[in-house]
Amino acid sequence: MNFVKTVTAAFALASAAGAANAQEERFMTIGTGGQTGVYYVVGQSICRLVNRTSEETGIKCTAPSTGGSVANINAIKAGDQTMGVAQSDQQYYGLNGEGSFEEPFENLRAVFSVHPEPFTVVARADSGIESFEDLAGKRVNIGNPGSGQRATMDVVMEATGMTEDDFSLVSELKATEQAQAMCDNKIDAFVYQVGHPNGSIQEAFSSCESGFVNVTGEAIDGLIEENDFYATATIPASAYEGIEEDTETFGVRATFVTSADVPEDMVYETVKAVFENFDRFKDLHPAFANLTKEEMVSAGLSAPLHPGAEKYYKEAGLIE
Ligand code: GLU
Repeated sequence: MNFVKTVTAAFALASAAGAANAQEERFMTIGTGGQTGVYYVVGQSICRLVNRTSEETGIKCTAPSTGGSVANINAIKAGDQTMGVAQSDQQYYGLNGEGSFEEPFENLRAVFSVHPEPFTVVARADSGIESFEDLAGKRVNIGNPGSGQRATMDVVMEATGMTEDDFSLVSELKATEQAQAMCDNKIDAFVYQVGHPNGSIQEAFSSCESGFVNVTGEAIDGLIEENDFYATATIPASAYEGIEEDTETFGVRATFVTSADVPEDMVYETVKAVFENFDRFKDLHPAFANLTKEEMVSAGLSAPLHPGAEKYYKEAGLIE
């Protein structure tokens, strides 16, 4: 027994000495999306930058794969995640308790926005699908519950007057599974709201005859007119091998969000890590190529800025 006590005492001394030299360790988690998406890269990249200064700040960051935008906002609200990536439309709906959210999350806070995310429909060539309306009667993967594509798909179906009953088969596969399911001829088409170029989509194009479908028309124009967070979007043919024409659709921005309950310095250090290593961050995915700091502090943000982000942007002269 004596021996155990001695060991415990020595350990306690060692920890006390450690604490005097370094900040108290604190953990933060970033909710991302499926591993084939860009959110996963966003989260992993931010954590990598945050963890470079762990010794000074005490902050340790991890970014697990999750169900996507809606799941992330709900997990932040529940206190299960510190920050997360979410589509700008879902940021608005989450704040106000609309769409996929039953109640307003008044403490939702914006940090910055990231890359554009076109609403993307991919279909087998032999399905004959050439427009969103052509999905009627087909086997369609509408996205896993909790994902941003599923939430926006619900919005588009409502705007176009379609329901799940209009499809011959509805599946709710995760983003990581849908390209393979299409090429295995289990579904005709899937929706994905994601930054381009995307590896899993390119893989589908290379493994089975398939392509993008334009998502345009009056209902889509209406959505864009009524909502600041929706805008026309183009998926350039140049982003993919084997695609010859640009695809016209509409889209949102990926945004980075948190809760008002998260300490100011944690958000400040996170923003600082990204903005002071901006070129390094931009190099981590081709979807980040056109990012500018000026746009990131305002575009697609409907929730109030978190005070930790605001503090950094003021210091950096990015906002007044
Ligand atoms: N936009 C998708 C979502 O909100 C995720 C896309 C990605 O993983 O990059 O769930």
